[in-house]
Amino acid sequence: MLEKLYAQLQQNYQDMVSIRRYLHQHPELSFQEVNTARYIKSYYEKLGISVTGNVGGNGVVAKIIGSKPGKTVALRADFDALPIQDEKDVPYKSLVPGVMHACGHDAHTATLLILAKVLNEMRNELNGTIVLIHQHAEEYAPGGAKSMIEAGCLDGVDAIFGTHLWATLPTGTIHTKVGPIMAAADRFEITINGRGGHGAHPHTTKDAIVTASQLVVNLQQIVSRKVNPLESAVVSIGSFIADNAFNVIADKAKLIGTVRTFNEEIRSLIEEEIEKIVKGTCLTNDCTYEHVFTRGYPAVVNHREETQFLMSCASAAPGVEEVLDTPPQMAGEDFAYYLQHVKGTFFFTGAGSKDAYPHHHPKFDIDEKAMLIAANTLGTAVLLYQK
Ligand code: MN
Repeated sequence: MLEKLYAQLQQNYQDMVSIRRYLHQHPELSFQEVNTARYIKSYYEKLGISVTGNVGGNGVVAKIIGSKPGKTVALRADFDALPIQDEKDVPYKSLVPGVMHACGHDAHTATLLILAKVLNEMRNELNGTIVLIHQHAEEYAPGGAKSMIEAGCLDGVDAIFGTHLWATLPTGTIHTKVGPIMAAADRFEITINGRGGHGAHPHTTKDAIVTASQLVVNLQQIVSRKVNPLESAVVSIGSFIADNAFNVIADKAKLIGTVRTFNEEIRSLIEEEIEKIVKGTCLTNDCTYEHVFTRGYPAVVNHREETQFLMSCASAAPGVEEVLDTPPQMAGEDFAYYLQHVKGTFFFTGAGSKDAYPHHHPKFDIDEKAMLIAANTLGTAVLLYQK
């Protein structure tokens, strides 16, 4: 059965490339992916596969029911694009100004559509059900995964598998790990209210810039002095806003930053420590503040058995030369939510080389051959899991 799967996928490879290039030329931003959703839904309709649109937003869910009873396996691909101007010089460059598939979600979609087509042709030999989750809005919190789960996309699912094509990892490699693989990504925003005044009379003011500057430094101590050194965490401030004339002491300053963690306890600890430091620093400087901490996606935590299983499937899949235990990375992914509900694993499929333009870059592109490798791996996982 596996040999048939691989042969059929290989035969459909050119169609996979065409679908990916069509989507690449017609990208849509998170929560606005109406045409992409319609494209996916009509693809399934033409094949006679049962499909539902508007699942928790623009999400699309298709189902292939095998002729024999068995387990239900879900596969997920996201399909939103980013607010980036495409600067590549290729015939399939984005036709939408300022919008681009700069993270490879077009390729995820093409991979899953062709894999679904091939698996559907094999449905007489399948044991169980395959759920194809086409998810909108991965790039922008609150994301599409949560609402799709609430709408029931995981009902009856025994396990889920998902991959992200990764341009800076070499084609032919598969990377995953047991446990946390991607981080929780949170946002904090601190507004410091002082009392502005003349730059020549500091003693009559409460300087919001000096207070915010102390805060930037004090916040560094959370990771260095509050978090166990054997755990990982990031506290980064990306924005410091305080724009005044040169001879004016700032009335207000604003800091915006991100927190990345793998562990829920550390995540809560950092949230509390930020509040404490803001409170203390503002008190010392006679300033008041507003602090808003917004939780983004939780960490992606891979289940042990399914991860080890996926790694063995990948080793058997054509095109895979190496299966590697990857270090976790600090980026976020809302695949995290699926793994909070059902068993499964998320992995990276190498789709380029270490010199490739990184994800979210205006010249980002992927090695399309990686789509076939991802399809071979996911297809193997489905067939062997249901065996
Ligand atoms: Mn992505």
